[in-house]
Amino acid sequence: MPIEFRCVECQVLLRTPDEAAGRAARCPECGADLTVPAVGAKAPPRPLPAAPVPSRPRREPTGRENEAVSAFVLGAASVGFFCCFPAGLPCAAVGLVLGIRGRRSAQRGLAMAGIALSVLGGGLGIAAIALGLLPRLLNVF
Ligand SMILES: [Zn+2]
Repeated sequence: MPIEFRCVECQVLLRTPDEAAGRAARCPECGADLTVPAVGAKAPPRPLPAAPVPSRPRREPTGRENEAVSAFVLGAASVGFFCCFPAGLPCAAVGLVLGIRGRRSAQRGLAMAGIALSVLGGGLGIAAIALGLLPRLLNVF
């Protein structure tokens, strides 16, 4: 039964007849100087390969996180711009949509905040329009 052992350098599995036990040998693969182990010696287990690169627990990039963040930003913008409604209302509308879409993401809190801010901004925007038009309406009548 031939002796099986691994090269200490390149780990290639070597096989040599029993007579070679204890003798010096040379790895045919890498040329490293080896000593053939005694008969019956088990082939040492292959050393564990370098720690595998931990596969990052990556969430599927759905883009929902971005939507949640955008919802929050747009919601905040709609509140800030409510007085100039041409900017505030679209921000509120888009923020609301993105917030609803972003609710399923990891940024759920941010999406909900975006929805709340968008609703607030939209309400304020509509109120601003109403208040802005009211004096004109009163003037008409
Ligand atoms: Zn070798």
